[in-house]
Amino acid sequence: MDVVTSWVPVKDHIKSPDIIRRIQEQSWKGLCLKDFGPPKNKGVIATMPFSKGEVVCDYHGEYVTQEEGNRRMEQLFDEACYVFFFAGCGEKVCIDAQHSPCQCHPHQDTFGRRMNHSRRSPNVKPHVFKLPLPEGTRWHPIFLTLKDIQVNEELLWDYGVLCDEGFGGEAAALDWLAS
Ligand SMILES: [Zn+2]
Repeated sequence: MDVVTSWVPVKDHIKSPDIIRRIQEQSWKGLCLKDFGPPKNKGVIATMPFSKGEVVCDYHGEYVTQEEGNRRMEQLFDEACYVFFFAGCGEKVCIDAQHSPCQCHPHQDTFGRRMNHSRRSPNVKPHVFKLPLPEGTRWHPIFLTLKDIQVNEELLWDYGVLCDEGFGGEAAALDWLAS
């Protein structure tokens, strides 16, 4: 294959109709939920190999304002937190995935919210892209691989990387999850 003609800039690739459809349907390929048992519980493993820089899935949930996101986080006590603040390109996006299944996908536990934390050896990282979604253009977090990933490898991201300071402390408390 001709490398030059087959090369697609990552941003254009992210905006492809295929990725937009997967966001809408939550129909991501090569992923599977695995229950690791307490205290880690559910996580996401790869069922096919991924190359470095590939799209894995998005972080799916309800878009809320920063103030509303903070308010909802304060209401959580010992519960695991699925309210995330993603920053990128000067924008901050707050997505609440606390409750699963969501109203738009009543028969699914979506993958983004189930990926566990690793500060020491993350293999995926969220990037925020401005995407032409059917409900309008909006900033949306998509996870890309940081390295090649083998079948059965767990997908892990560093919760501290793109979150606001309010969540940084919480992520530090999750260090026991780090592998
Ligand atoms: Zn949904």
